[in-house]
Amino acid sequence: MLDQAQEIAASNKPPAQSLIGVSHADLAAKLQALGVLERQARMRVSQLWGWTYVRGQTDFAAMTDIAKELRAELAQHFNLARPEIVTEQISEDGTRKWLLRLEDGKEIETVYIPESDRGTLCISSQVGCTLTCSFCHTGTQKLVRNLTAGEIVGQIMLARDRIGDWPGAVPNDARGLPDSERKITNVVLMGMGEPLYNFDNVRDAMAIVADGEGLSVSKRRITMSTSGIVPEIPRWGEETGTMLAISLHAVRDQLRDQLVPINKKWPIKDLLNACRNYPGLSNAKRITFEYVMLKGINDSVADAKELVRLLAKIPAKINLIPFNPWPGAPFECSDWEQIEKFAEVVNRAGYASPVRNPRGRDIMAACGQLKSASLKQRASERLVISV
Ligand code: SAH
Ligand code: SF4
Repeated sequence: MLDQAQEIAASNKPPAQSLIGVSHADLAAKLQALGVLERQARMRVSQLWGWTYVRGQTDFAAMTDIAKELRAELAQHFNLARPEIVTEQISEDGTRKWLLRLEDGKEIETVYIPESDRGTLCISSQVGCTLTCSFCHTGTQKLVRNLTAGEIVGQIMLARDRIGDWPGAVPNDARGLPDSERKITNVVLMGMGEPLYNFDNVRDAMAIVADGEGLSVSKRRITMSTSGIVPEIPRWGEETGTMLAISLHAVRDQLRDQLVPINKKWPIKDLLNACRNYPGLSNAKRITFEYVMLKGINDSVADAKELVRLLAKIPAKINLIPFNPWPGAPFECSDWEQIEKFAEVVNRAGYASPVRNPRGRDIMAACGQLKSASLKQRASERLVISV
């Protein structure tokens, strides 16, 4: 008879590895390591890929066109698991926010914003962020680590599970979902983290998101938002071809140095030069410039005029974001009247509807409010428990 220690050792087979986020080539290598012949690997990869990313299947046993023995082998070594849901909040307006727990216990957030004809999923690229933009709550946390490609793609898989965005699937809650056939039509890298500081993993993840035989979100509908890691911008454009958003937030270096401190390293002029040279720009493919409205800081009419002047020769969209407050934030949101005045200057220069409508406010789902709020809430829950 086995004693307890032996029993534990005997059951201690290596944990199953996730296949989410694994590239075609690596998947082929893994299948060959299981004994699949080289000449069959391509076909098997494409079958597995279809089940995983087109149908959302998580159970190898259900993949009926794959040989039974191989299905059993796959189930023994691998899984298609999603991140664990810690909390799921659904706003009155249908916006959803998930706090997700990764395998090592770290937590990230993902937000889904439905509109009548489209649905945008806002995903995280890092746990926390190394940068310290003074208006951003994520910036007050230390970076814990980069997300893997699997953890980045996993956010989309989980969201598609919950909102029933697989063929024949039903949503857990249909409130606010768009009329479009696909419920997630757009993906934005605007959650926690600076995507260009996790370049390779984010790029590899986006390749799967954009893959026509995979998640099939066109590159035109994927937007990577950066605070301005200038040397990586051209490489991102060449290697991924997604849309680009720039967190500009100020039109003078002196102020941008304070709001987005990475500006000290790569000032506005260098940033805009990289933008001008972003591959494939046209009137149909414009860069989005994000501009958070901070009362008395960056919201004057003179600032608006300078913004329009700075962007004059770049195919651009301007996105004015009302500042989303968080506890202890050193800023306030501009008054609505002032936002309107600012927007009018921008409008007159030919930019359409530049103000971003805040969504999911009741669940703190807005930009720059991610993760910390839930940490705070959980800390207070712990306090209650310990009293
Ligand atoms: N790190 C990347 C992407 C994540 S932040 C970046 O900075 O671009 C996504 C957007 O939310 C950025 O434009 C960011 O500046 C903005 N943001 C951060 N905190 C905010 C807040 N409290 N209110 C409004 N927008 C905020
Ligand atoms: Fe990081 Fe972006 Fe927040 Fe700046 S705005 S701290 S880059 S997540």
